[in-house]
Amino acid sequence: MAISQQLQARIEEVADELNTELYGPKGCPPWGTKFVDMEQQTGEIGDAIACAMLSRELQRQAEEEGHPAGKCGGCGEPIPFEEVAGRLLQARRGEVAWQESYGRCRRCRKAFFPSVPSLGNRAG
Ligand SMILES: [Zn+2]
Repeated sequence: MAISQQLQARIEEVADELNTELYGPKGCPPWGTKFVDMEQQTGEIGDAIACAMLSRELQRQAEEEGHPAGKCGGCGEPIPFEEVAGRLLQARRGEVAWQESYGRCRRCRKAFFPSVPSLGNRAG
């Protein structure tokens, strides 16, 4: 994916904000801090951002489909509680968590697939 100039500019802003959050107004660790330690720290934060974005995307997709409301996105039929599940997935950069339902709507037969074993089949 190509990162647009606008998105890159926003990433720079967020990076500044996070550095200020971490190190105070100076926005950097003390002179002499090892590069490897700085790289480790920024890597962990980068991974955490990736996981937070992924969790939110997955949650929003599920919400678009009506999952957390406990209702079928197709016809509004309530989905039994045991078919609404918290999802936890070990992704490349860490854990992602969201909530969605799985199974099949009893009224309109719209399918909600368990997304962990079959991410390609998410669209119900
Ligand atoms: Zn339905």
